Amino acid sequence: MADFPTTARVVIIGGGVVGVSSLYHLAKAGWSDCVLLEKNELTAGSTWHAAGNVPTFSTSWSLMNMQRYSTELYRGLGEAVDYPMNYHVTGSIRLAHSQERMQEFQRAKGMGLYQGMEIDILSPDEIKAKYPFIETHDLKGALYDPADGDIDPAQLTQALAKGARDLGATILRFTPATGVSRENGEWIVHTEKGDIRCEYVVNAAGYYAQRVGEWFKPFGGRTVPMMVMSHQYMVFEEVPEIKKWSEGYGKKLPLLRDVDTSYYLRQEKNGFNLGPYERNCRAHWATPSDPMPDDFSFQLYPDDLDRLEYYIEDAMARVPLLAEAGVARVINGPIPYAPDGNPLIGPMPGVPNAFEACVFTFGIAQGGGAGKVLAEWITEGQTEWDMWSCDPRRFTDYTDHDYCVERGMEIYGHEYAMHFPWHRWPAGKDRKHSPLDAKIKELGGQMGAYNGWERANWFAKPGDDLSEESTQTWNRAGPWAERIREECEAVRDGVGVLDLPGFSRYTLRNDGAAEWLRGLISGGLPKVGRMNLAYFPDKRGRILTEMSIIRHDEELFTLITAGSAQWHDFEYLKANLPEDSGIELTDDTVGTGTLIVTGPKTRALLEPITEDADLHEGWLSRQTAKVAGKHVLLLRVSFAGELGWEIHADDEDLPAIYDALLAGGAKPFGMWALNSLRLEKGYRAWKGDLSTDYSLLEGGLDRFIKFDKPQDFPGKAALLAEKQQGSKKRFVTLVVDAGEADAPYMSTLWHDGTIVGETTSGGWGYRVNASIALGMLRADLAVPGTEIEVEIYGERCRAVVQEDQPLWDANNERIRA
Ligand SMILES: Cc1cc2nc3c(=O)[nH]c(=O)nc-3n(C[C@H](O)[C@H](O)[C@H](O)COP(=O)(O)OP(=O)(O)OC[C@H]3O[C@@H](n4cnc5c(N)ncnc54)[C@H](O)[C@@H]3O)c2cc1C
Repeated sequence: MADFPTTARVVIIGGGVVGVSSLYHLAKAGWSDCVLLEKNELTAGSTWHAAGNVPTFSTSWSLMNMQRYSTELYRGLGEAVDYPMNYHVTGSIRLAHSQERMQEFQRAKGMGLYQGMEIDILSPDEIKAKYPFIETHDLKGALYDPADGDIDPAQLTQALAKGARDLGATILRFTPATGVSRENGEWIVHTEKGDIRCEYVVNAAGYYAQRVGEWFKPFGGRTVPMMVMSHQYMVFEEVPEIKKWSEGYGKKLPLLRDVDTSYYLRQEKNGFNLGPYERNCRAHWATPSDPMPDDFSFQLYPDDLDRLEYYIEDAMARVPLLAEAGVARVINGPIPYAPDGNPLIGPMPGVPNAFEACVFTFGIAQGGGAGKVLAEWITEGQTEWDMWSCDPRRFTDYTDHDYCVERGMEIYGHEYAMHFPWHRWPAGKDRKHSPLDAKIKELGGQMGAYNGWERANWFAKPGDDLSEESTQTWNRAGPWAERIREECEAVRDGVGVLDLPGFSRYTLRNDGAAEWLRGLISGGLPKVGRMNLAYFPDKRGRILTEMSIIRHDEELFTLITAGSAQWHDFEYLKANLPEDSGIELTDDTVGTGTLIVTGPKTRALLEPITEDADLHEGWLSRQTAKVAGKHVLLLRVSFAGELGWEIHADDEDLPAIYDALLAGGAKPFGMWALNSLRLEKGYRAWKGDLSTDYSLLEGGLDRFIKFDKPQDFPGKAALLAEKQQGSKKRFVTLVVDAGEADAPYMSTLWHDGTIVGETTSGGWGYRVNASIALGMLRADLAVPGTEIEVEIYGERCRAVVQEDQPLWDANNERIRA
């Protein structure tokens, strides 16, 4: 073929809305030498049949950002690329049947306001005023999102395609990619028409993404964690009243979402479009007897309306006009789901220079923003907003087929459900266990999953209410509260023990390791025999991650990081490891466990069962020893902020050590108590308080930055500049006059009627008996004693900025005891 491109900087596989938006954004960033391959016509996957709803609502800050960006892009896109299209900004009304739902809406409203959107809360009468055809007698209220609307997905994709082509990018239709190979550090993407050599490749293959992902396995890839659901919507015939109303007012009705029943209902021409997310939902292509076809372009599944009966009846009761219309057509199409319902956007785990922008459940709403994020990943290696919610590395090796199917079904069937902090969704449990799992459960452990590992959140006592209903609250109180208090008090007054399987750990060794590590972190390395906390900035000086560095020898380290950071951090280190340096990095997470033993009586407990160790060695010391006759690594550190050690031991030795600790009087405590304890110390948690949304200086991590060390490190120049100019925000600890609920992530901070910051985490401190929030506040207000307000689920609560020191044990005397 004469003009078939044989080289490109980036090849994108998949011409749905997401792939095309990625191409458009790459071209806009000046990367026009990019090629998109589409096996059929553009939009042949999920995009052509999508309902086209474009909400901004989300309870996730980053998803809201992405969706908000999409709406802003779509508004101006037709004109920008000279491709007019149907985009109706109708607004939407999200109905609430319960007080808890209203609280959820209030929180989203706060986030929306912060992002510059005019999200509002409506009373039942106000709902009726905006939507006269609705029954409101059983509603508490609603959330009104004026930016919501609907767009023609095919036109949107074509507009993005035109924009990309006009900027010089290439789209090859009817050109399936058939495989990839690698040569001299470059990718070769194979097609039936020839090969394309490129620097970067993007899997944007929608519901075929797992198939395309298989090609990357020889280069370090894994199975793409996803499954496919069938989703249906019904288009109804014209309803004369709707026509009359619409013509009279010159606009469409706002879209209705009855999130508690679980459907959307919007005006389509002068009729309705009804789309339920039904509980008795159906996965497709999930069993060997139902294989995914090689090609499903522009195809649909057969209608299956029986599944939707309940929802249709409910919608007809809500909007009786619906009952007067006949169904004109049904669309039943494939929709891919990742195990948490969020898409995969970012670096492909394990594979160099390969990215993912796939598995979108709401690709029309998110496509615009996703293109921006993906283009930033490729062109800059980082994104404007922290996008961990969509980062492919958030899933590791526990996401096998059954897990993906179970989770996908659960999420689809609860698409609009509220995610209460105390509630555990039942699907996909028990992927990875500590050797102590049975024991922990016997002791009353109420488990939660952390990177697939089961850990106790709290320990129940006989008679405690363990029902699902008890967890349906945003409030602090519940069966767990008294138990968390007891666990915290045991840590405060005696000794607590927490089993922490899946604490990510890497080993770094060989000549040059120390020097290399110094060049990645902002601070210094510990001396041999000691450990410290280190921060890894990106080149903007923002917080990529935090690790504990334990130095066993000059050139031998253990690096410990959050369970959920396992692949993220390992990949970051690996990608920066100089080739042929001889430095060796291994992931040794599996096979070793960690027990946190902490409280003022820890030394007394350990002394009789410990050999070969000096338990008076100071804070941040490291020593090998024997506990209960088993070889262990003892680290003198405590995330709970009391005297304490982490005991690291081989899995097979943990039961004996745990038994000895219990026999010595240690009380088991869980992750929720640990969270409360660390809040009181102002210790930050990864991807809440620590994220790429903040620089190290904003994060108050000044004492972990050594500007004067000889090695350069990423972000040094940016941090120096920020230091000179002053940070815009500063990390603060707040004590809050909270009501029944503590501040969740991304609650807005207010001062003088304006938003001046946000919380990054919050909860009750049982040692200090106060509601605590950690957050980012406008720098001029980050002064101890300043009074501000925190908006918690819509309630403005007085809060006071604290001294820059821990609330509990301000001088760290207890940890150094
Ligand atoms: C009934 C229904 C209604 C929906 N309604 C909405 C809605 O209202 N709002 C919303 O936001 N989302 C909605 N969705 C979801 C939305 O359709 C998807 O999230 C979105 O279309 C995904 O876009 P994509 O580009 O990621 O994938 P796709 O559109 O599936 O595109 C992937 C493309 O990759 C191509 N491809 C695959 N393999 C290869 C290969 N080897 N070589 C070359 N090309 C390849 C495919 O042909 C396809 O065109 C709906 C989905 C369904 C099923």
